[in-house]
Amino acid sequence: MSDYVRSLLTEAQEQTLVDAITQAELQTSGEIRIHLEKTTGNTSAQQRAKQWFGKLEMHKTAEKNGVLFYLAIEDRTLALWAGEGINEKVPTNFWQEIIDLMISEFKVQHFSEGLIAGVEKTGQALGKFFPRQDDDIDELSNEISKG
Ligand code: CA
Ligand code: CA
Repeated sequence: MSDYVRSLLTEAQEQTLVDAITQAELQTSGEIRIHLEKTTGNTSAQQRAKQWFGKLEMHKTAEKNGVLFYLAIEDRTLALWAGEGINEKVPTNFWQEIIDLMISEFKVQHFSEGLIAGVEKTGQALGKFFPRQDDDIDELSNEISKG
């Protein structure tokens, strides 16, 4: 297990975060994932988010409604990447509001709280555009991905 992740997130907090994703997905057919890594390397958070969205095969959901929360811990940077189905529907300032909400928590060292707040808000918002159906399938794992 990578030290850089454990420095910010205890095992119990990580489980709480996975539970928050599971809860959020009860409201929507959208699929939420979190990817943590040490650094973006020599590219931008936005580019890395896009790459990981592909690596995690998040473009393969039926309604193209996956959302990836990407965070590079040492770089203290984050980006969200959403499937095409979502970008057609949500207003343009939608992701910025969620990012601002998370950053306000991160600034006071509330790392897991910030992520949970972002996941909850995303679940609520996606529920309006992509309501959960009775025959919902968990198309993408709720576990935290770490690179
Ligand atoms: Ca689902
Ligand atoms: Ca899922």
